[in-house]
Amino acid sequence: MKFNPETYHIPDRPGLPFIDPVEITDCISHVRTDKGKVREIVSKSLEKNRLSLNEVAALINAGDRESIEMIKEGASELKKQVYGNRIVLFAPLYVGSKCCNDCRYCGFRVSNKNVVRRTLDREELVREVKALENAGQKRLILVFGEHPDYDADYIADTVKRVYAVKNGNGEIRRVNINAAPLDTEGFRTVKDAGIGTYQIFQETYHREFYKQYHPLGQKSDYNYRLTSLDRAFVAGIDDVGIGALFGLYDWRFEVLALVRHTNHLEACFNVGPHTISFPRLKDASGAYLNAMYRVTDDEFSRIVAILRLAVPYTGMILTAREPAAVRMEILKYGVSQIDGGTKIEVGAYADSQYHQDLKKEQFRISDNRSLNEVIDELIEANNLPSFCTACYRLGRTGEHFMEFSVPGFIKRYCTPNAILTLAEYLEDYAPESTRSKGWKLIGDSLGKLNDDILVQKLRERIDKVKNGSRDMYF
Ligand code: SAM
Ligand code: SF4
Repeated sequence: MKFNPETYHIPDRPGLPFIDPVEITDCISHVRTDKGKVREIVSKSLEKNRLSLNEVAALINAGDRESIEMIKEGASELKKQVYGNRIVLFAPLYVGSKCCNDCRYCGFRVSNKNVVRRTLDREELVREVKALENAGQKRLILVFGEHPDYDADYIADTVKRVYAVKNGNGEIRRVNINAAPLDTEGFRTVKDAGIGTYQIFQETYHREFYKQYHPLGQKSDYNYRLTSLDRAFVAGIDDVGIGALFGLYDWRFEVLALVRHTNHLEACFNVGPHTISFPRLKDASGAYLNAMYRVTDDEFSRIVAILRLAVPYTGMILTAREPAAVRMEILKYGVSQIDGGTKIEVGAYADSQYHQDLKKEQFRISDNRSLNEVIDELIEANNLPSFCTACYRLGRTGEHFMEFSVPGFIKRYCTPNAILTLAEYLEDYAPESTRSKGWKLIGDSLGKLNDDILVQKLRERIDKVKNGSRDMYF
């Protein structure tokens, strides 16, 4: 059956919606599990096999200490095998807080009269980007409310303006988007502006709960949102991010639905999502947050570990919504990207007097550290901070990227590129204490590469970085 973006019926389940609450709920309530089964499933995942929905449900239903430890250890091991010790860094850039929707949990919702609304003008946008570049950022995600002012042309124009801001050695090399779903034509427009990933979170995959949390505006249409990334693919965007806002409904349901959404995109377009996000619900100005489905720290680490095992090659994003200590702990279970030096108030990066004020922000973040503080801590814990943008710029995305996402590729290309981008950061932005630790980590990492020719090439490029060359990649 041919895929038709205008209908809700999708070819991998002809005549049925691809998120079927009965299928998911049945899966959770009927799948039995025990330690032996968990061990078997973790081993299958360590062989880099994708897990079935039933297998993921078995991990979800494993509640005893020993099984949970097996799941977490398996996820840590898998992460090491697939990603090594790299962590990719980015920052969110809030462009505008106007919004026509009324998401119950969000400070920007239209009925919140207390929030101060603001949109960056052209000069302010440049100031924000320069401030981000001065901190050493190379990868941004632009964030917008949903409003007619922020249509596809506006988003595309903003993306081009961000790429155009150069500042000494500072430049933004990848601009991702988190904004409202577009129609196919709109997605074509933003693709042509050179975007990286287009992220859209379903928030909750549970239709009835979705309706309660999203009473007004375009976002109240569950189907339009659920099929938005299908439209993105039809428009030629092969790099998309999915996510659920954990705390709106039962986390077990959301984890299975995220895996189902991944399967759906793979079945229809031969490419899964590039990234999965799993934000936890935080305080927001005037928001009424039901505590019933709140996710504890323990559950949160299980969620991340289970997702890691379920989809070994999908990037996983953990944001500054979480406190620093939780981030460091969760990182090990499969996270590949985090933000650093995050500020989510519109205009905050260029504001030297800035302090967090919920009346100007979408929600409360808990990790307010500078980018350098985050990098310093990553290095201390033997993680390799990376600003790499090579694959996207060499066209290694989507289906093509999947061919390369095999062990070996990541070690041969991603680790060397992480080293080169860290070297640039250390030369251009790091204070002395971070710089010496960082160079030591680079030395140790070279020692572990076990490939004399590659190490030789890499040493030559590192020397060039020290002599002022920038933006070299494998
Ligand atoms: N307006 C666009 C939309 O809704 O798709 C952009 C997304 S919003 C600016 C980014 C994400 O923040 C949302 O998709 C939602 O998951 C998350 N978010 C909203 N309110 C939140 C809260 N109170 N705590 C944590 N995350 C929240
Ligand atoms: Fe608007 Fe997005 Fe907030 Fe909903 S989550 S109110 S769409 S900014």
